[in-house]
Amino acid sequence: MQTPFPPVTPPRRILMGPGPSDISPRVLAAMAAPTVGHLDPYFLRIMNETQEMLRQVFRTRNPLTMSVSGTGSAGMEACVANLIEPGDRMIACINGVFGGRMADVAERCGAEVTRLERPFGEVFTAEEVEEAVRKVSPKVLGIVHAETSTGALQPLEDISRVVHDAGGLLLVDCVTSLGGLPVEIDAWGVDAAYSGTQKCLSCPPGLAPVTFGPKAVEVIDNRKSKVQSWYLDMTMVRNYWSDQSRAYHHTAPINMNYGLHEALRIILEEGLEPRFERHQRNHQALKSGLAAMGIEYAVAEGHQLPTLNAVRIPDGVDDKAVRGRLLEEFGIEIGGGLGPMAGKVWRIGLMGEASSKRNVMLFLAALEECLA
Ligand code: PLP
Repeated sequence: MQTPFPPVTPPRRILMGPGPSDISPRVLAAMAAPTVGHLDPYFLRIMNETQEMLRQVFRTRNPLTMSVSGTGSAGMEACVANLIEPGDRMIACINGVFGGRMADVAERCGAEVTRLERPFGEVFTAEEVEEAVRKVSPKVLGIVHAETSTGALQPLEDISRVVHDAGGLLLVDCVTSLGGLPVEIDAWGVDAAYSGTQKCLSCPPGLAPVTFGPKAVEVIDNRKSKVQSWYLDMTMVRNYWSDQSRAYHHTAPINMNYGLHEALRIILEEGLEPRFERHQRNHQALKSGLAAMGIEYAVAEGHQLPTLNAVRIPDGVDDKAVRGRLLEEFGIEIGGGLGPMAGKVWRIGLMGEASSKRNVMLFLAALEECLA
């Protein structure tokens, strides 16, 4: 029988927005491989290899490094819910949408949340974080490394020191940095971190890489109350990801994990340093081209993300009309502004596969035509 519903035939896009980013055909092919059982020896091998590759990309030796089933927000919830018990104090650093989301998640877990705020587009200094941690003595301080909503890159090393001096744990959102710019979990002393597959890892959305350091694991081991989320409870999920027990918790999204495995292989084949250099190079090329058109960045020099370029929309230009034309005439997706930046900035992603000279040149030419 014929169905009135056509098959899935998505248009070919160039994904230069805030994510998802372009996906390598190798990753899509891996995802189309036959599904095996979640306890099949083949899949257990894929899990082990994925964990090892994630450790390399996160630059950590943390045994508890794995992919959470769900998007970046699931990674955020997994970290917050496992570290926080009702009544615990947490500082959420908010200079964009995702810091705000972390505060919301923490409140839902029963944390007493202190919101440390900065205008969108700015970053936190170690001094202001130090003042806040001295006052609050939080169990956890959460901060976003790469604020996708604003294009700001948050330095972390000094902040890590002040958080640890005050006896707290440092939780970092690496959703828009992992795989595109240096993320040094061990060297910076990050206690817990999460990311998402659809940004600089160039895999479709659906998994959230996470890593927990020794102090975070100790906190999880010594919890007095059950983790607020059954699905994301690391005290159970980690048993499935551990070679010793492999206890069933939930059915892992097998083919998504194939995709992540292949995406990580591609990253390690390229090498982390050459990959970061590529992201920098294409960011600089884009920046020069935009400068020649009189378009400025929304974030101060020195704190601009190479993976997400937030630029001011020139006066008198219709935000939606330009983005619409870019999509319809050139197949290029870019993002608009979020929150207070809505209508004021464009967000141009150069993440993973999408960070290429070809995309930069094509985008600049297309934008020039749309602005003519
Ligand atoms: N954190 C940051 C910095 C993000 O950019 C995003 C998504 O854009 C998230 C968290 C949430 O991830 P997801 O939309 O995959 O749930």
